[in-house]
Amino acid sequence: MTENTTDVVVIGGGYAGVMAANRLTQRDDVTVTLINPRPTFVERIRLHQLVGGSHAAVAEYGHVLGGAVRLVVDTVTRIDAAERSVTLASGGTVGYDYLVYAVGSGTADPQVPGAAEFAHPIATFEEAQRLRPVLDAASVSAAVTVVGAGPAGIETAAELAEAGRAVTLVCGGVLGPYLHPRGHRTVARRLARLGVTVLEGPGTKVTAVTRDAVRLGDGREFSSEVTIWTTGFGVPDLAARSGLSTDALGRLLTDETLTSVDDVRILAAGDSAAPSGLPYRMGCQSAVQLGPQAAETVLSRIAGKRPAPVSVGFAGQCISLGRRAGVFQFAHRDDTAIRFYVGGRPGARLKEWVCWGTVWQLAYEARKPGVRTWWAKEPKRRQLLRATRRGEAPATATAPTAPTAPTAPTAATAERAA
Ligand SMILES: Cc1cc2nc3c(=O)[nH]c(=O)nc-3n(C[C@H](O)[C@H](O)[C@H](O)COP(=O)(O)OP(=O)(O)OC[C@H]3O[C@@H](n4cnc5c(N)ncnc54)[C@H](O)[C@@H]3O)c2cc1C
Repeated sequence: MTENTTDVVVIGGGYAGVMAANRLTQRDDVTVTLINPRPTFVERIRLHQLVGGSHAAVAEYGHVLGGAVRLVVDTVTRIDAAERSVTLASGGTVGYDYLVYAVGSGTADPQVPGAAEFAHPIATFEEAQRLRPVLDAASVSAAVTVVGAGPAGIETAAELAEAGRAVTLVCGGVLGPYLHPRGHRTVARRLARLGVTVLEGPGTKVTAVTRDAVRLGDGREFSSEVTIWTTGFGVPDLAARSGLSTDALGRLLTDETLTSVDDVRILAAGDSAAPSGLPYRMGCQSAVQLGPQAAETVLSRIAGKRPAPVSVGFAGQCISLGRRAGVFQFAHRDDTAIRFYVGGRPGARLKEWVCWGTVWQLAYEARKPGVRTWWAKEPKRRQLLRATRRGEAPATATAPTAPTAPTAPTAATAERAA
């Protein structure tokens, strides 16, 4: 640690971590170190495009990260809160005055016989990369099954069907549970036009996956040469392993200023944060708002000011339906879908603009840290918090699509939504 400077370490160079690191560079007396396992930024919201072959899903850190941020390509294996240091997989430790925990999310344990062995997850860059050659090796007419009909499943099914593949989308319930019935109809129509077989309803939960077949709860079994698993996200267990308090899924438990309930020097942002045990919907939409707010809390503490409570507003959910169509489902700021949506080609253009705009936003924050506020107000959160404390509301800020509380830190699923 350096004298007269405050050293901040950010773990995880995704949307939240990059936004946090950039925002922290506002002060010359703050040194910022970002630790991430890869030397390039992964656009996770384009991983279905990596699978479909229409985008590489990466951007250069040189483009999205401020020049004052030191990037360390490594993985943190442990946080030692008492010593204020993190241990790296390559050996050695890095000390900090403040730590921002932004390790994001990945694939949840599918907990379905055969799924871990025979199905292909796509929640991380490496998983999506591994699936590419598998698809390339399969003939175009090979049966492809996508399990999970949240946005990632819908987007992947549409991407592959548009490329001429024979795709079955297994919903395990409702197609696009977040969507308003009008948005739902549009998505269903587009998938039908692309030739995707959509299996909806309570009997469509997958109960087993084998090398070449998928079995459903209602007893149906059909052949599947390539099975893709998109049923939800789990989070890394780093916080729990390091003895820090987490929610049931393993997200770091914080107060409303994104500060760990155990340690004022540790903050969390993005998919791996659970403010007041009421986590926001996992997504880059919330991550880009949470990252700078975690940084602002650090900057407030350094300046001796009182940090502001977190606020995240949602615009809706944006789903690509191949390269030529999409749907932007608008929502109230509390993240419940409304009847308005933009579909078809304009929907596709809007989705592409959102993906491009998210990277632009990171780069803007890199060049002009703190100049713009990227977060929106969500007026109902205070009410929800009060009601939850009185035991009147479910422990989630995003009731429509949020995960239900699981029992083990990394085993549960959290439906991601755009
Ligand atoms: C196919 C797909 C499509 C999606 N589409 C959308 C969308 O349209 N809209 C939307 O809002 N969301 C979407 N999402 C979800 C979105 O990508 C995530 O919710 C978002 O990336 C979370 O941001 P984050 O910064 O919290 O974490 P991440 O982007 O996951 O970044 C976390 C980083 O931390 C790193 N890390 C993890 N552990 C460690 C460690 N121990 N040490 C160092 N580094 C570590 C990871 O490798 C990663 O680089 C999509 C996801 C997928 C898979």
